Amino acid sequence: MTKFKILIAISLLLFSCTALSSGINVKKVSEHLHILSGKEYGTNIGLIPINDGLVLIDPMPGNSHLSELDKIVRSIYDKPITFILNTHAHSDHAGGNEYFIQQGGKLVGSTSNLVGFVHIKAKSHSAIDNIYYHTKSNAVFVGDVFDTSWHPTFYAGGTKGFIEAIDAILNLGDDQTLIVPGHGAPSSKLSLREFRKNTLEWISKIRELDQQGWDVDRIMDDAKVKDVLEKFNVNNEAVFLPQKAFRRFIERTIAVVKREKGM
Ligand SMILES: [Zn+2]
Repeated sequence: MTKFKILIAISLLLFSCTALSSGINVKKVSEHLHILSGKEYGTNIGLIPINDGLVLIDPMPGNSHLSELDKIVRSIYDKPITFILNTHAHSDHAGGNEYFIQQGGKLVGSTSNLVGFVHIKAKSHSAIDNIYYHTKSNAVFVGDVFDTSWHPTFYAGGTKGFIEAIDAILNLGDDQTLIVPGHGAPSSKLSLREFRKNTLEWISKIRELDQQGWDVDRIMDDAKVKDVLEKFNVNNEAVFLPQKAFRRFIERTIAVVKREKGM
């Protein structure tokens, strides 16, 4: 009996350790799509079956979770990862490429050889943002052009690049299309439209205050600015942005509006 109890205790301990060490959330959206997200970066990773294998989008759950991601993929499908796609080159999206290339995956910069994908290039969050629409699952991976857990980051493309990227996404699919941001909960076109409106409101408010000669400290204290920022806090977190990140967001937006003034 004692031995039995010890065994139970050990199994419970093992079980809880497994649960604790699990850094990846798995969400089955449909037969055609799983979305996995690592707790370390919160990057949304797409797993899509194709005829002869699997497509993995943005395979980065955190360096220490790559083998776990690999294991999870193998537990879902008895097929190899044949293609890897990245929405952009930042390490929180592309950092796991090498691991899966070594397993036989092929990193591709376009979907021209993949049936059932639409690929659009944009310049908003980074110099090259890839937007991947998978028709069968009616889901579009938009990378950090859109974020439901953070403020917008349109620094590479500015206002024009942002509008072009969002409108290109809105033109894909239909009203039911699932919009998968780089980070945060997958969402809808409705919330993408809200994000578009709020981002443009943010840019124009910062532009206005910058033109009036306000410095960053004064802008940070402005009630209207805080109001607009809060619109990106879709999960109603008690503290949405650390002060340092708030400051940085304003500084980088000012850099964008100053750059655009000279255009
Ligand atoms: Zn990212």
